[in-house]
Amino acid sequence: MAPAWSEHLPAGLDASSLDLTAGQNLIAVAASHWRREPARPVLQDLDGTWISGEQLAGETSEHARRLGAAGLIPGDRVVLCAGTSAALVGAYLAVLRAGLVAVPVNPSYTRPEVQRLVAAARPAAALVEDDEVGNWITETAGPDLKVWGLGGPVSGAGSRTDHPVDAAGGPDPALLLFTSGTTGTPKGALLSHGNLLSSARAVGLAWRWTEDDRLLLVLPLFHMHGLGVGINGSLVSGGQVVLRPGFDASDVADRCRSGGVSMFFGVPAIYQRLLAAGRAERLSELRLIVSGSAPLAVAQSDALADVCGQRPLERYGMTETVMLTSNPLAGPRKPGRVGLPLPGVELRLAAGGEVQVRGPNVLAGYDSPDGPSRPEDAFTRDGWFRTGDLGELDDDGHLGLVGRSKELIITGGFNVYPREVEEALAEFPGVREAAVVGRPSPDWGEAVTAVVVTDGPVDPADLRNFAAQRLAPYKVPKAVEFVDQLPRNSLGKVLRHEL
Ligand code: AMP
Repeated sequence: MAPAWSEHLPAGLDASSLDLTAGQNLIAVAASHWRREPARPVLQDLDGTWISGEQLAGETSEHARRLGAAGLIPGDRVVLCAGTSAALVGAYLAVLRAGLVAVPVNPSYTRPEVQRLVAAARPAAALVEDDEVGNWITETAGPDLKVWGLGGPVSGAGSRTDHPVDAAGGPDPALLLFTSGTTGTPKGALLSHGNLLSSARAVGLAWRWTEDDRLLLVLPLFHMHGLGVGINGSLVSGGQVVLRPGFDASDVADRCRSGGVSMFFGVPAIYQRLLAAGRAERLSELRLIVSGSAPLAVAQSDALADVCGQRPLERYGMTETVMLTSNPLAGPRKPGRVGLPLPGVELRLAAGGEVQVRGPNVLAGYDSPDGPSRPEDAFTRDGWFRTGDLGELDDDGHLGLVGRSKELIITGGFNVYPREVEEALAEFPGVREAAVVGRPSPDWGEAVTAVVVTDGPVDPADLRNFAAQRLAPYKVPKAVEFVDQLPRNSLGKVLRHEL
């Protein structure tokens, strides 16, 4: 029987002959596009400058050689901490080409957040745009760690000339991406070149993504949505990318009108803001708009369908697996559902409804000093990855996500784990205990909300300011509620569902 995902394939493409990891790595596939039309622009920087495939190929291979000459060896981890720019994309590509492992870090992280992540990642080098962040990293990792600007070491930084470029194979590690754990310890998902390539190719096939596409990319590049789908998908499909520093409703509307754009990827909070600003109709100029990272409310999907003449294509993925499912491009696009497994992805529902998956896109394991680890709560004994999401399948095999077994809060497409915020709040003088929950919010999907017990009067504004010194802006509670005591079960655990 044909796999459930064969509906995603273009007519005439046989599921049994599909090799999602052909070419071994993203760069080899991207390079085939770059060679075919070297002068063709592929990446637009924030100032509007276009970079051709030939330029990108030349600069990133030179950069990769310099990383090797400076003493890095394949498998070494390299922190990338910077806002979106062509230089950041170039640094990411150079790291991959040198066989190193990219460790993207959110540039709005505070010192303790950066240091916790660096301690877990054990990098050999860091490419940063802000010297202060470089200092924080050195404080944690020691003086042996090399810190450079985004462009990396300058020519002649070392004497080794034999560093291999573009030699990484499918099973070699490519990306260490952190999903903060509920224990407060960051969990590093270790993804291979094969994981990244297979998922980018699966999405490319399902969405008929070609060299003729131009993606308007406003999503951050330290998260799987922007990096693993936006950048990697474009590399594999040979399409062009217009980089933007972040989301701005008027900027998106302007670029949809005059930028020759064909695709846009957003999280529900972005679509909500486009609708609220009366700018969503500009998306009707595009071939494809996609939503993911958090549930898109049916009412919002309907509103977009009305205003844009097309329903956003909703898809589902996660850091550990890149992309998992998508509504079919040619329909039916079912609001409130995340569609069918993407090419190569096997999906099952365990007793209790947990979504479990396997396929070439699924991480080898979480990072640990002894290599990838596959803890029992993350993988079943028979090798399926436990997503922690709860789902149900309709008669057509389309997946609906009904909730999360974990306590993750998703606010504006970003993940917030309550524990980390609770610990920051508990440091404030006068706060006895705090529980953090996500409350439904039309603007954010979920709004981070703190429920606190205090020993005396506490000004909520002071508490929020205090949190902002310790946490990235999206983790800071939008609201603070005061209670006399937190509801707890007999084991003393806070009953979040009662909050
Ligand atoms: P992340 O690892 O940051 O990409 O977050 C992954 C989680 O986001 C998943 O486990 C889901 O809970 C959630 N998620 C992603 N896409 C969707 C979607 N389309 N609808 C509902 N939840 C989603």
